[in-house]
Parts: sequence; structure tokens; C-alpha cells
Amino acid sequence: MIADDIKNKIRGIVGAENALDSDLDRFGYSYDASFVPLFPANKPELVVRPATTEEVSKIMAIACEHGIPVTPRGAASGRTGGSIPLKGGISMSLERMTKILEIDVNNMMVWAEAGVRTIDLYNACAAKGLFYPPDPASWKFSTIGGNVAENAGGMRAVKYGVTSNYVMGLEVVLADGTVLLTGGKAIKNVTGYNLTSLFTGSEGTLGIITKALLRLIPMPKKRGTLQLMFRTLDDGCNTIHQMLQSGLLPAAAEIMDRFCLEAVAKHRKTELDPAVGCCIIVEIDGEDDAALDTQAKKMEAVAKQCGVYQFRVAQTQQESDELWAIRRGLSSAIASLVPNRLGEDISVPRDAFPEVVRRIGAIAGKHKLTIAVYGHAGDGNIHPSILCDLSKPGEEERVHRAVEELFDATLAVGGTLSGEHGIGITKKPYIAKALGEAGVKTLAAIKQALDPKGILNPGKIW
Ligand SMILES: Cc1cc2nc3c(=O)[nH]c(=O)nc-3n(C[C@H](O)[C@H](O)[C@H](O)COP(=O)(O)OP(=O)(O)OC[C@H]3O[C@@H](n4cnc5c(N)ncnc54)[C@H](O)[C@@H]3O)c2cc1C
Repeated sequence: MIADDIKNKIRGIVGAENALDSDLDRFGYSYDASFVPLFPANKPELVVRPATTEEVSKIMAIACEHGIPVTPRGAASGRTGGSIPLKGGISMSLERMTKILEIDVNNMMVWAEAGVRTIDLYNACAAKGLFYPPDPASWKFSTIGGNVAENAGGMRAVKYGVTSNYVMGLEVVLADGTVLLTGGKAIKNVTGYNLTSLFTGSEGTLGIITKALLRLIPMPKKRGTLQLMFRTLDDGCNTIHQMLQSGLLPAAAEIMDRFCLEAVAKHRKTELDPAVGCCIIVEIDGEDDAALDTQAKKMEAVAKQCGVYQFRVAQTQQESDELWAIRRGLSSAIASLVPNRLGEDISVPRDAFPEVVRRIGAIAGKHKLTIAVYGHAGDGNIHPSILCDLSKPGEEERVHRAVEELFDATLAVGGTLSGEHGIGITKKPYIAKALGEAGVKTLAAIKQALDPKGILNPGKIW
């Protein structure tokens, strides 16, 4: 229980309108975009919405003194329950920290507060000819703080990497309220342990990220979008593999199976060609139209060898936007078809991609479940989605067995439990299998050193 005098102290720091404790407000901060059930609700005792680092620091000092759990929160678009306040306490929402503080054109870097939306950062940099590549499908609502905390990936990770490839430095408020600055604008920096990397992907368990310094690159001058249709998922997987082997490096290569395409068709009230079993959307970029043309032709040649059914180059920006809108809306389109859906986020070495997709098919068959497959095929990151109705007798058990087998199959081909969504609550039971005892012990030692009272995002990762 947070005593009234402590709540009043916090109100004195952030203002009464930013320290909320009505039942409705607390419910509103009790869930995220994961599949963690809503009932019983994991309500925080107090929702706190600071506007400055100083406010965050003061609140953490109070929380530390009184041993109050604090769960950081961005836009709650996380898929693994990371921002759910499992142990009550404070939900620390960074939603009011939305300033882009500096776009340093000379050094090609940007300082942004944690609550800045990913797309707003992208657009602000693009207006200066600079490119911030990480583009999770959720970029219209996810925040930079959440992206850093999850080390989010996105469509363009094939060519440009994930969030951690762009984080140069961080401002972090530690569990006791200390404000720490890591990294900086120097490109080469090996002074001490790499604290910037340590906090990137730490899922809100080691500190509260209040600001991020991000590296930018020049904006590609031209972009093109290709749509490839295949009769089978196997042909699609093979094409991705052959494409990468042939030296082609697209900015993005997204795959969708027949089920995904049916979901999209239903959503858009269109008919799907019965012969189509798989679609790949590819983004290419380069200096000029000729560079795009060369890549598109090479891509077509590879796809033909792999039995492509239809090959289309988007002719207008509108056509290209539409193709990407389909992909970005896919997750919601699939979710609308069934009562329940468990989306996973496995990541495998690129050359194991076709094999793991085959194994997913076998697991689906064995458990008589539909597992829709889509994901960032170009970098080996797949989102198998188990479509189910958990109210049916025995279904939940079968789903959990299928998930376990999915992770076993992933680890067996040299993959990992998460490519971009993190561990949070949903993958906790499997982490020891992935990291081994020594790995988990090392994580726990780091946690103990930085948060000895265990108040930051308790109940997550392990
Ligand atoms: C439709 C949809 C599509 C998605 N597509 C992708 C995708 O393509 N790639 C991808 O990587 N992810 C994707 N995601 C997942 C999600 O958007 C990302 O994990 C995102 O980074 C979460 O950001 P957020 O601001 O919503 O963070 P939240 O969900 O609020 O929090 C996520 C985690 O970060 C912690 N956290 C948040 N802010 C801070 C902070 N300032 N300091 C410390 N810890 C913090 C929280 O405690 C929690 O553990 C998708 C989600 C949805 C719903």
C-alpha cells in the first residue's frame, strides 16, 4: 500500500493531475498489447506521469526509500507484458516527455525524450534529410523509450539493424533516483563497460530511460517497393534465402503466409487468388532510379528461379504506401478473426529460416492448430501467431504445448526466444533454456547491483 502522505509527496512533485489513483485510471494502466489476460487486472496503486528527468529522479528516490515497485511505461504497445505493473506500486508513464531536444545535423545525431513517438522522431529527422531507420510496425504509437527498453526491431532491420545499432547514449534514472549519463557523441568510445548497451533491451528492469541520443544516417534518395506472390510458403522462404545468398540486400523483406493474406483480404473485403500461398513485400533503396531498377531486376531473376507466381513493382508512392499499410495492419487484421491469438517472436539464423518455418507447420499439424506465419523474413525474425479459442476445452493446454515445441524448435536451429519483443512476462518460463544457468545468474547479478531492493519492474524477465 502506498500511504496517503507518500502519494501527497508525489503529487507535490508532478501535480495532482499527474498522479492518478482513481479505479478507472489505474485500470487504464494495467495492461498492454500482449496476450496477458486482463482479469484479474494488474492495477498499479498510483499512475505517475512526470514531465522532467528531475521529477522522475525525485519519484524514484521516494520509491526506493519506501520499497515501492515502479513499472516504467511508454505507449504500452509491448507484446510481452513488460509495462504491466505485476506487483502494483507505481506505473511510471513517460507519455508527457515528448520533446525532441536537439537534431545535430553536423554529427548526424538526435537527442529525444523517452516519450517521443517513433514516427515523430523519424519525420523530424527526415525533414532535415536524415534517416532514423528502426521502424517497428507499431511506430505510429510506440515511444523511443519503449523502443530502447525493448531494443525494438522493425521492417528495415535486414539492411539497417535494430534500435541498439543507433543508440549512442542514454540518460537513465537509476532505482535510487541517481541520474546517469551513458555514452555520448564520440563515435568510438570504449571507456569502461558499455552501459548504453546494458540499458538497451533491459525492459525497464535496470533504470528509467528519460532521454536517448540516437545516431542518424543520410536518408536514401530513392525507395521502391516490390510485391512477390508465391504458390507455397516454401517457395517464398526459399526466395528470401536465395536473395540474400545472391548478394542482394533489401532494406526490408517481409513474408506473409496464406492465412495472413486471407485475413487481410477479409479485412479489406477483397478476393484472394486461390493459387496464392505466400506473399513477400520487399523495400529496396538507393541513390537513384537506375540503382532501384538494377536491384528490382536481380530480385525478379532470383524470384523466377524460385517459382514466383506474380512479381509486381509498385508504380506510385500511393501503391507502395498501400502495400506497407497491409503489412503494418496485419497483426490487427489477424487478431480480429479469432477469439484468441498468441503471437510469438522467434529469431533464427538466416539460413535456418526455411527449416524453422517447416517445423512450425509440423507443430501446427501435430496439435491441430492454425499457426499463421509472418515476419521479418530477411533477418530471420518470425512472428508465428497461434489462432485459438481458449474457451474450448483442452485448447489452452494444446496451445501451451505448441508454444513450448516452437521454442524448442527455435533453439534447436540456433535461434533465440525473442528477436524484438523481449521476454517480459510471457517468455519467463523459457529463459533458462535459452541462456543457461550461468546466463541467468549473470543477469540476476547485474540486476542486484543496480536495483538491490528489486523495485524496478519486478516480476519480469526471470
Ligand atoms: C501492432 C504492433 C506491431 C508491433 N510491431 C513491432 C515490430 O515490428 N518490431 C518490434 O520490435 N516491436 C513491435 N511491436 C512491439 C512494441 O511496439 C515494441 O516493443 C515497442 O518498443 C514498445 O514501445 P512502447 O513505448 O509501447 O513501450 P511499452 O510497451 O510501454 O513498454 C515496453 C517495455 O519497455 C519498458 N519501458 C518503456 N518505456 C521505458 C523507459 N522510458 N525506460 C525504461 N523502460 C521503459 C516497459 O517497462 C516495458 O518493459 C509491435 C506491437 C504492436 C501492438
